[in-house]
Amino acid sequence: MTRILDGKALAARLRARVAEEVRDLRARTGIVPGLRVLLLGDHPASLAYVRTKEKAAREVGIDARVERLPAETEEARLLARLAELNADPAVHGILVQLPLPRHIDTVRVLSALDPRKDVDGFHPLNAGRLAQLSGAPAEDLLVPCTPRGCLLLLEEALGGLADLRGKRALVLGRSTIVGRPMAALLLAHDATVTIAHSRTRDLAGECRRAEILVAAAGRAELVRGDWLAEQAVVIDVGINRVPSPDGGHRLVGDVAFAEAVGRVAAITPVPGGVGPMTVACLLDNTLRACRAQLARPTLTRSSEPPS
Ligand code: NDP
Repeated sequence: MTRILDGKALAARLRARVAEEVRDLRARTGIVPGLRVLLLGDHPASLAYVRTKEKAAREVGIDARVERLPAETEEARLLARLAELNADPAVHGILVQLPLPRHIDTVRVLSALDPRKDVDGFHPLNAGRLAQLSGAPAEDLLVPCTPRGCLLLLEEALGGLADLRGKRALVLGRSTIVGRPMAALLLAHDATVTIAHSRTRDLAGECRRAEILVAAAGRAELVRGDWLAEQAVVIDVGINRVPSPDGGHRLVGDVAFAEAVGRVAAITPVPGGVGPMTVACLLDNTLRACRAQLARPTLTRSSEPPS
């Protein structure tokens, strides 16, 4: 029997907890967590993502606003706006929707964020802290939302993260957004981690050895059922649009879901698995960022060790 991991239900529970804690924070301090989402250009998928994030944040009581800038905005103008948001005490979380137009240096922009407001967890300081992590992240460490959502799904599937200890985990994909931070989280929880990518030889063999598989390659149904170990736990991050028989399209993951069901112990569906967890983790990160800034109002320079 394969357990289908219900990301929607788990995300709804996390959102309800965040909503309660936002209410409580407001009642105690009068402070409402503030989130600003910057979107350059009008790429339809990015526009849909930022609207989903804004709506979900507002539903839990976060003061969320999307700021849209023209695609041709100069980098200096974007950096100047980020500096204003960094300095604004009513803004606790800042998210720059990726990908950015090609004329903008993404690393420079992400590095310009106040790391305490970096709710996507992409600032080099947060990425570096995650790379050094052992055990659960500290309350003030902002971890990228998708890998964090995957870890919560694994916790749900395994009945706790202690069960990751020593397990053979394969992360398929090495992006800075999903694959690498996912591998760091698994390693921090003592899994034995392999990262596969487009140059990996014998991907099927690597998959077959995995007790935990997190697939984030962005290739529709790349991982076939017979690549999966029996009783593996599979988290499918991929979101791929494929043509459907009725002439429209449907979304599928990186794992051939129908072939996996009946073979593995647990798997996330697409849609309804990782996607809702990503959004819920963004809300939780915004709340965490707000709390950390209230506890420590001035920025610790990266050269100073955190106390
Ligand atoms: P990227 O394109 O940045 O990275 C994909 C990774 O997969 C790369 O490391 C690439 O290898 C590897 N890869 C691609 N093709 C193959 C292959 N045939 N065999 C082995 N490895 C391969 O994607 P992202 O990490 O940003 O996203 C991955 C997927 O997750 C996408 O479908 C995306 O839509 C989805 N996603 C879903 C989210 C959610 O909330 N559910 C959030 C974020 C992403 P190499 O490095 O060698 O090129």
